[in-house]
Amino acid sequence: DESWLTLPNRWGIPVDICAGTDVPIESSAVDEILTVLETADTLERLAAATGQGEAAIDRVALTPDLHKGAGIPIGTVLRTSGALIPQAVGNDINCGMRLEATSLTVDQVRPRLGALERRLRHLFFEGGRRIALTGVQREALLRDGLPGLLGVPGERADGIWSRHRREDGRPGRIHGERYPTTTAEPFRDWIASAGGTSHDSIIGSVGGGNHFAELQYVASIHDRQAAYAWGFELGQVVLMVHSGSLSLGHQANAEGLDQARKAWPASVRVPDNKILPILSGGRNEAALQRYLDAFGNAANFAVGNRYFLSLMLRQGLAAECGDLTADLVYDAPHNLLWRHDDGSVVHRKGATPAGGYADVVDGPYAMWGEPVIVPGSMGAASYVLRGHGNARTLASACHGAGRRVPRGAASRASDADLDAFLAGFRVVTPLDHRDPSVARRADVMAAWRRDLKQEAPWVYKDIGPVVSSLERAGVADPVVELRPLLTVKE
Ligand code: 5GP
Ligand code: MN
Ligand code: MN
Repeated sequence: DESWLTLPNRWGIPVDICAGTDVPIESSAVDEILTVLETADTLERLAAATGQGEAAIDRVALTPDLHKGAGIPIGTVLRTSGALIPQAVGNDINCGMRLEATSLTVDQVRPRLGALERRLRHLFFEGGRRIALTGVQREALLRDGLPGLLGVPGERADGIWSRHRREDGRPGRIHGERYPTTTAEPFRDWIASAGGTSHDSIIGSVGGGNHFAELQYVASIHDRQAAYAWGFELGQVVLMVHSGSLSLGHQANAEGLDQARKAWPASVRVPDNKILPILSGGRNEAALQRYLDAFGNAANFAVGNRYFLSLMLRQGLAAECGDLTADLVYDAPHNLLWRHDDGSVVHRKGATPAGGYADVVDGPYAMWGEPVIVPGSMGAASYVLRGHGNARTLASACHGAGRRVPRGAASRASDADLDAFLAGFRVVTPLDHRDPSVARRADVMAAWRRDLKQEAPWVYKDIGPVVSSLERAGVADPVVELRPLLTVKE
């Protein structure tokens, strides 16, 4: 089958790449995977040194957007037994995509895009967001995720938060185990350092680079029944948010590495690939639990952050286009690990779950499979697909079109190309490039252009062949195609 490539390796671990021949795959990232597989030896040595039973890598799956990352490539899904690997999750723990379907149509929103641009700039970047969380609320969010936060009676809430908390005071369509809510003991110092009760907490930040908050509309429907079940209509405006756990994820990863080092037996040498797994069970239980608490706090925070970012988009839309409703379609995490009852752990680093209908037992997904959100780039189409739970990809799919041009090369593109793109597209950044006093400042504009060039549509792969690879390989089928109206980028 032309949509699959299997990498041979001396450990006999199944390593499948799902990508059609028309999708360019970075070969250095494929080479990198072979060094990651050396972790199989590490696990064997760790298990032998501690007498704690078996530990192994069972399977690796690589997605069509595979590209080089720090250590383990982005687009790697890795299943272990008897151990987990904090570094196989990605630094921005629980980075993910949130998608909400609104009651507005593209015809209602398009004429208001200029006003929306100004309002959203104020909301996102000029002090317009007012999200007050009390210490109790923040602790509930870190411990029990969004359902925990929504369950806390409001002691002091104002601005965006109070206006929405009543209607959202229910877990809503969030379902079961796949929703990335992890019960975890909150780290005391995080509750205070992340902002306490002040308005200027980091929650509600987009985060830099390829994170975004976007208004899109349903441009075509590929699967009418699934689209109907998930609440999509042609011409409908949807909100897509891509963000993660901001600084909490990085702190949790540092904690994970720290715990792995502490649990490391002196008799086992540190592997050349610097990947340090933690064996599960036995004497490592305390170290493991400490990592999992930090990981859970960060994961829960990320869901909350995406929720607030979508509230901010809703707020802007309501102010400019009139009252609306917005229903969660899905919140899809792409940097996370899943521990299963059989002791196996699925790690996804830059890959999104794509379970089949048999994996999703309740709600509007039961009949159709898990929603798979595959964004293209700013200015290009994005897709929502339905997963088939394909075992060869460990029920996973790509989490985007994927970068094609490295950041360095991308920033050397011509100003004219960028300006031509910006003339036809609305991008909201902290800097108002339409303001004449800003536009006159050459140094400021040059830095701003360089950052945007690194995120321009042409630095990402074509979404078409990426989506058809997933389809041909039996990983997921397209449900709707979304086109962008406006992108908020930090
Ligand atoms: P990540 O940062 O999680 O590795 O990748 C996110 C994916 O989102 C990228 O591979 C790219 O395809 C897509 N992407 C990046 N920037 C934007 C944007 O502004 N809008 C949309 N719709 N997609 C984007
Ligand atoms: Mn991401
Ligand atoms: Mn991220």
